[in-house]
Amino acid sequence: MTAPIVRFAPSPTGRIHIGNARTALLNFLFASGQGGRFVLRFDDTDQERSRQEYADSIVVDLDWLGVVPDLVVRQSDRVAFYAAAVARLKASGRLYPAYESADELDRRRKRMQARGLPPIYDRAALKLTEDDRAKLEAEGRRPHWRFRLDSETVTWTDLVRGESHIDCASLSDPVLVREDGTYLYTLPSVVDDIELGITHVVRGEDHVTNTAVQVQLFRALGAEPPLFGHHNLLVNASGEGLSKRSGALSLTGLREAGAEPLAVAALAVLTGSAESVHPVAALADLGPVDLARLSRAPARFDEHDLWTLSAKTLHGLPFETVRPRFAARGLPDDAVGETFWLAVRGNLERFDDIDGWWAVVHGSIEPVGEDPELLAAATRLLPEEPWSSATWAAWTTRVKAETSRKGRALFHPLRLALTGRDTGPELAVLLPLIGRARVLARLSGHAGSSRQEP
Ligand code: GLU
Repeated sequence: MTAPIVRFAPSPTGRIHIGNARTALLNFLFASGQGGRFVLRFDDTDQERSRQEYADSIVVDLDWLGVVPDLVVRQSDRVAFYAAAVARLKASGRLYPAYESADELDRRRKRMQARGLPPIYDRAALKLTEDDRAKLEAEGRRPHWRFRLDSETVTWTDLVRGESHIDCASLSDPVLVREDGTYLYTLPSVVDDIELGITHVVRGEDHVTNTAVQVQLFRALGAEPPLFGHHNLLVNASGEGLSKRSGALSLTGLREAGAEPLAVAALAVLTGSAESVHPVAALADLGPVDLARLSRAPARFDEHDLWTLSAKTLHGLPFETVRPRFAARGLPDDAVGETFWLAVRGNLERFDDIDGWWAVVHGSIEPVGEDPELLAAATRLLPEEPWSSATWAAWTTRVKAETSRKGRALFHPLRLALTGRDTGPELAVLLPLIGRARVLARLSGHAGSSRQEP
């Protein structure tokens, strides 16, 4: 089998959200797991609502997730292809002009519904003679163009849903070209899928009905349709679908709030699949994607799970993965950085928390002196360097013997003095990183003063 070519086709009319990420990632992982190619296609034929800034942000958001396209195209650059397809469909009689205004169509739909009929376009325009058309155009009417559907049942083996069929007799002939000559989504999408050699169309199940129309359109344009897979849609904890307006769950919003990209990816891909949602250390660990194992039920996800997963993801991230972020922050991206990372990563909720831990290990902290007598003894008994991970136990054993403090009474004041915090990484690990000079300063800095209670 030849390697797949897939596409992710957002309209740049807003920021993409975690549900869009699901589509993008399923495509990307499906293709990259088989040595295939991933095309990012901007469906920007709606000139009024499409914005370059949204297209730019989609590229940034995908890059953040680790999705790097092999090719980026925009439909606004490709209208010559669509014009050629329109000419072909007109020549074969599959595209016909219709002149009804939106109001007329609306009234007609309502009449049909009142009579208990399905509101399908009645193809009145097909019965117009040349004279009728000339008359309408003389009145100043411009036609829109409809694709004449064959009244057949279109069947396909969906990569997710299995055997699927849609009776096209139950559908209105879709409008492909508006009165002003601009294209609706269906035609450019099919033309591009043909032109770009797309082998697998993987998208949300809200597009299932479009598939029947598109299969006919592929054939009318002389092409074999690709394979289709329609995945279940992500819904939030209350069962609502996600929309571009739910800004908090936009990828940009999640990034700015400090979510880990691998956690967003894991949640986006694994929710509503046969696998449980779990942290991963690399994007490839989410693949290869088996589309047939996606559930048919809506994929319900809870934003709270994202933050738990984000923390768990950080706790397992290898230094290699965060090295560029260390460099970008001005932290050492060498062995010093790595030792520090491995010591503190298990305590991070957000990556940004490392600044606080960096200060604990290599900078200065707010002093907290809780038990002056204990700290004075600890100062006296502090071993000389070199230190290892065994130093902490050796030191605190002696402090315990001398001060008869044990358990929390022994360890908590030391932790507070050395780190300024109640909790954190194991002190056996931190102590050698903080180093004797800082430890002495912190112990003596606090030894004479009790914590000031407010
Ligand atoms: N622009 C369409 C959308 O965002 C693409 C659908 C498709 O993948 O064909 O829904």
